Amino acid sequence: MATSAEIIAVGTELLTPRRVDTNSLTITEHLNEIGIEVAEKHVIGDERARLSDSIRSALQRSEIIILIGGLGPTEDDVTRDAVAAAIGRNLVLDEQQERILRARFQQINRPMAAINLRQAHLIEGAEAIPNPHGTAPGQFIVVDRRAIALLPGPPREMKPMLENELIPRLRKLLPGEIIKTRSFRITGIGESDLDTLIAPVYTKYTNPVTTVLSAPGDLSVHLRAHGASEEEVDALLREVGDPIRELLGQKVYTEDPGEPLEAVVGKLLKDRGATLATAESCTGGLIAYRLTEIAGSSDYFIGGYVTYTEPEKHAVLGVPRELIQIHTAVSEPVAAAMAEGARRRSGATYALSVTGYAGPSGGTEANPVGTVYTAIATADTTRVLRNRWGLGRSRIRTLAAQFALDLVRRTLIAS
Ligand code: ATP
Ligand code: MG
Repeated sequence: MATSAEIIAVGTELLTPRRVDTNSLTITEHLNEIGIEVAEKHVIGDERARLSDSIRSALQRSEIIILIGGLGPTEDDVTRDAVAAAIGRNLVLDEQQERILRARFQQINRPMAAINLRQAHLIEGAEAIPNPHGTAPGQFIVVDRRAIALLPGPPREMKPMLENELIPRLRKLLPGEIIKTRSFRITGIGESDLDTLIAPVYTKYTNPVTTVLSAPGDLSVHLRAHGASEEEVDALLREVGDPIRELLGQKVYTEDPGEPLEAVVGKLLKDRGATLATAESCTGGLIAYRLTEIAGSSDYFIGGYVTYTEPEKHAVLGVPRELIQIHTAVSEPVAAAMAEGARRRSGATYALSVTGYAGPSGGTEANPVGTVYTAIATADTTRVLRNRWGLGRSRIRTLAAQFALDLVRRTLIAS
């Protein structure tokens, strides 16, 4: 059974449309890494009574409770008081914290107001978590096998305290468990189709925990397993991960969660000593941008042509004018001619082209908005594929770039 945590973000401003609680996302990420699942999150205004109630109920159900914010010196910073009240302990002035606080004010050459002393009060039995970037120390206390942590609200103060102080403390409390993750990055399938395909495998297991994340044209599946030994955890990840990998086949472009598609394409090109050029219309350079995000891409990416108008397609890529007149610029023959033109001009092993209607206006009856032709030219052949995506200019462009990069990947794997 995994240890479960609850996060309580404190602050009336977090209940307005102007501020969102981002701290809990950072905290969740770090907790997950050590195998702690976040079971609940709450946002409570600066109200002592409501906050105490919320802490009391959290204590009934969660082993770890993390409160963020409300550690300032003013009357509306109520977190210390609320926690003390909820667990029936006093707040006591801590001499060491007082010294640290006074030294800090001296350092910035400002007089310390009496109310600032509130920040030197610790809940009886709590350990102070040093705050190198601010005046409010955090606090950590274990009561009846429940761990409670208080962290300040400003993210730049909170984050180092979380990483350097709180996570190591929580890790010590956990049974000696091993946690490991396995990830798949996937393209060429929609989110619901992906889930239909793999849910029969992963829903049978609560360990590993499986999560599916989705961005346009880019999905990822993460498995996180815990167990008593490395062997046990590896076995679990294989037991669930291998059938998922099998079902997805070549739709999985990497198992490295930090490796984007353009990096995979780059590696494949480099391994084969091959080069690539791009001719882009509706993606306006997005593909070239992504390829050149990768350091060292000049080893395999020769260049990209953004030929947005018809005359440019002719002038730069040598697409015959008649071809455009007969078929329009968004057509299979023009996509092919663009790719072939880019390949000829650059001397690249492979050339990619994209031409389509990103909208919102434009399009024809045969090729409405969302229609995109993608071509890849190699030494022997030119392949053209037609897609029709739903509306949304930015989404269509993103999907078109992703599809084009994946076409290179699939071509390279097959070669
Ligand atoms: P301070 O001593 O600065 O008052 P504090 O611990 O009392 O710190 P808050 O007053 O609650 O913290 O928040 C200070 C600022 O930190 C907020 O104005 C906000 O910008 C940011 N902040 C607070 N909570 C969060 C949160 N959960 N996510 C992101 N930012 C937050
Ligand atoms: Mg405050």
